[in-house]
Amino acid sequence: MVVKQMTDETSTMVDTSTLYIVPTPIGNLGDITQRALSILEHVGIIAAEDTRHTGRLLLHFGITTRLVSLHDHNEQYKANILIEKLISGQTIALVSDAGTPLISDPGYHLVSRCHQAGVKVVPLPGACAVITALSASGLPSDRFSFEGFLPTKSKGRRNKFTEIAQNPRTMIFYESPNRLLDALDDMLAVLGGERVVVLARELTKIFETIRGGPLSEIIDWIDEDTNRIRGEMVLLVAGHRAKKNDLPLEATNAVVLLVKELPLKKAAAIAAKLFCVKKNVLYRWGLNNLHQ
Ligand code: SAM
Repeated sequence: MVVKQMTDETSTMVDTSTLYIVPTPIGNLGDITQRALSILEHVGIIAAEDTRHTGRLLLHFGITTRLVSLHDHNEQYKANILIEKLISGQTIALVSDAGTPLISDPGYHLVSRCHQAGVKVVPLPGACAVITALSASGLPSDRFSFEGFLPTKSKGRRNKFTEIAQNPRTMIFYESPNRLLDALDDMLAVLGGERVVVLARELTKIFETIRGGPLSEIIDWIDEDTNRIRGEMVLLVAGHRAKKNDLPLEATNAVVLLVKELPLKKAAAIAAKLFCVKKNVLYRWGLNNLHQ
């Protein structure tokens, strides 16, 4: 049943028994869309990561819709309650603190439960830090991989960089400012100082800065003034450019996987057989690149 009729493409239709995924600004409040505001106004309930945070946004736009919380720690339990409301005809909007829900934010369990229960899910396009950063980075944007947050410990980060070292696509990470310098040091140890990176900081806000260059130069630039990494940050890394003598990506990826279960020597020998590579070359690669 349609509770508000659509008259043309700019009007908002709010269906019953529907979950709307509604992006909110990542800084500049002017980035919320008219459709997002209209949906937030007309749904029965807004499920928000932090109800106080979203409450301030709603107050700014004069929206009084009821808020309920849905965050990482209660999502599985809350999803059951919200699914029942949706099945009984309620209309719900899902928002996170900033940007697009589910992109390094809660919502996955609720959306997958909706699909299992046959509840309609309607996504709205809108602000998202990863896409905003990529569009202005100057790095190839035809293919990219979003990697979410980096591991918090050095060993985990180094393993992650080793895993993606030969990925030819632009890679995009979210990182907290207080771990960024350590993350760049780990990246330097694994990918080397020539790898091009871009820092996209405080997007859509007053101190928005987009700075790119070889990793070693970016580290020097930050060392000159650590205020340059204050605030929210997206870290983009240029994809690997293959050279003639590089090992095939499949072979090194196989070693990364196998070494979780086997000694390096055995892992390198199996991967070498599978991908027709010299086993001692793979073994040496493992010694130099894997941080066990
Ligand atoms: N769902 C959000 C989105 O659509 O981008 C991301 C949420 S995630 C919990 C928060 C991370 O996104 C921050 O740590 C930062 O890496 C990135 N981020 C969010 N807003 C940003 C901004 N204005 N400028 C740069 N990075 C931002």
